[in-house]
This record gives sequence, structure tokens and C-alpha cells, in this order.
Amino acid sequence: MPPTGFSTACGEQSPGTVSESRRRVAPDTPREGARVGQQYTGTPVAALRRIAFLLERGRADSYKVKAYRKAAAAILPLGEDEVRRRAGAGTLAELPGVGASTAQVIAQAVRGEVPERLAAVEAEHGGPLTADGAGTALRARLRGDLHSHSDWSDGGSPIEEMAMTAIELGHDYLVLTDHSPRLKVARGLSAERLARQLDVVAAVNEHLGGHLDGHPDETGFRLLRGIEVDILDDGSLDQSEEMLARLDVRVASVHSKLAMEPEALTRRMVAAVRNPFTNVLGHCTGRLVTGARGTRPESRFDARAVFEACAEEGVAVEINSRPERRDPPTRLLELARDIGCLFSIDSDAHAPGQLDYPLLGCERAEAAGIDAERIVNTWPAERLLEWATP
Ligand SMILES: [Zn+2]
Ligand SMILES: [Zn+2]
Repeated sequence: MPPTGFSTACGEQSPGTVSESRRRVAPDTPREGARVGQQYTGTPVAALRRIAFLLERGRADSYKVKAYRKAAAAILPLGEDEVRRRAGAGTLAELPGVGASTAQVIAQAVRGEVPERLAAVEAEHGGPLTADGAGTALRARLRGDLHSHSDWSDGGSPIEEMAMTAIELGHDYLVLTDHSPRLKVARGLSAERLARQLDVVAAVNEHLGGHLDGHPDETGFRLLRGIEVDILDDGSLDQSEEMLARLDVRVASVHSKLAMEPEALTRRMVAAVRNPFTNVLGHCTGRLVTGARGTRPESRFDARAVFEACAEEGVAVEINSRPERRDPPTRLLELARDIGCLFSIDSDAHAPGQLDYPLLGCERAEAAGIDAERIVNTWPAERLLEWATP
């Protein structure tokens, strides 16, 4: 029986073999075995991770997701026999991090039954993100994601869980772009913390069998060193040049004073785009169109001047795929297209399940008729890194 979706595929591997097991699975691939009453062949960890993934993808509140991720982490280090023994003895919930409902998921998976909770979440959130396959052709050409957050800033999961999920989604690379110091609400990283994070990124790559420097194995996944750096009021970037120089990819975004006068905001954004370290202009208008944080209008700036600077400097205009952002708006997307900009289609994921969002950006890029060659994350890692070098 085929594995039940990509999380299961990973959960059945030992951590050391995960990079060999990665596969591309379209987000709308029907997942057999996810209905109650059917046989379940995945591991309990895979079931818990799949539930968490789908809840995050469906934008569930993070407290609803945490229980599943905690329970997966709790049983991961235990042997299969120990989990089976505890399931039989009814003592799973005695483990720290495992509660009554997660214990039930584990016990059902151990018995080879599709966990009821998994079936329910699969039915509610497991469907395709777009109608009629929109965006899937372009999505199949994406090789990576240039914008993601871990629990080092305001993301909800550890770096390695983000990397693991990116592998399961078929990415060749994921750029970890936690926030910069000025964004205190998001626990932006100081230069010292960022330096420590780079050591962790190196360790994750080593563990996954990737190569941080030098010549990558063509088939290997790579977690790339990045930042989502705040564009300060004067257009400078909120991190030291020394640290920016140590990174592979830098996304520059406006997070403060979005309501600034248009002329001043234009100068600020153009200055950031002209900065040799800037590779991607993140969610350029800052608008919020829906969601728990409410809505926010587009910031006002001379989009033609900003996009012309992007085209001149080879800076990619981000198509931010988050459902509440959909940034840039369509008329600006088309303007950037006509000016000849490069693009990157990013998830801006703050949780592993949100790494599935780029399909939404692909749907918009396809609708705007943007050539895949102009989308930098359709490029192989080597070409991307060459482009991103200041
Ligand atoms: Zn941002
Ligand atoms: Zn972000």
C-alpha cells in the first residue's frame, strides 16, 4: 500500500535517510488510507505530523496544532516496541506532551487503523488549495522557497521541522528568513543570535547530508541561510553588513510606518532595493486582505519607480502567497511583469503546513501570465545562489 501522503513517507524513514526519500507530491494528490475503517500503514509520528501539517495549512490557531507536534516529539525518541507496549497498556498519556486525544491517535495508528482525528482533519483540510488544478503546473517547477520563519523569531516550529517538511514537499532548498532585530514583537534576531542560528543551519544541513558550502550534491536538499530584514525608515537594512554578507539570500521588507507619505516611502523602498545585499523585496504593499489580524490597506508609494529599481538591480519582487496577504495586488503584479522584474513565489511560512502555500502564489502568477524563467525559485540552487551573491 502506498504511503499516506508525504508526511507518512517521511515518518517511515529514519532521520538519516530522509533526503533519499524525498519526493514531489502535488498538494492535491488523493491520500488513500486516510478514511476511518481503512488500514493505516504509517507510523504514529507520521499521523501526528500529518494532522499538524493539515491544521497549519488550513490556518488553524497554533494552540490547536501544538498538541500534535508536541506528542510527535514526545514519542519520536521512543522505540517502536515501547510505543506499542504503552499503547497496549494504556499508558501513552503518562508521557509528558501526550494527552488523551493524541494518545488515541497514536494507539489507533499502532493498531493499523486510520486515526479518527486524522480522517476528520484530512476530510476538512486535505483538499486542493486551488480550484481546477490552478497553479499546479507552475508549482511543479518551483524548486524552493525563499521566505520562511522558525521558532527563533515568530514562527511556531523548530528549524529542523521546517526543513523536514520542505523536503517532503519536494523542495531542493528552503531559505530560513527569520526577522531582524528591530522587529521586537517577532523576536527579531540580534547579530549574535543570527550567528548562532547559522551554526544550527550548518548542523541541520550536515544531518540531512546536504552541503552548506562548496559543491552541493545535485540531489541533496539544502537549508539556506537567510533573513527577512526590516527596511528602516531611511531605507537602510536592519542588520550589520558583516552578518548580511554571511547569508545566502536576503528578503527586505517594510514592517513599520507603512502609512508613511508616498514620496518618503518610495525613497525608502528604492534605497533598500538599491542596497547590494537585497535580493527580494518582500510583500511590497504590506496589505492584509483577510484573516485574524484584520485588514490593512496597501501602503502608498510610486510602484513604477520601485519596480524599475528592482528590474535594474535584479531584485525579485516577491509574490507573497499567504492567503491574508496576496501581495502584490494584481494591478501591481502586472505592472512589475510589464516592467520586466524578476519574481520569487514565497510561502512566508510561519509553520510547516504553511510551506504548502506557494501554490496560491503560482495560481496568481499563472493568471498574470508570468514566465516561469523569470521566477527565481524555479532556478536550481546554484543559479539562485549566484544571482543572490552581492
Ligand atoms: Zn514580513
Ligand atoms: Zn515573513
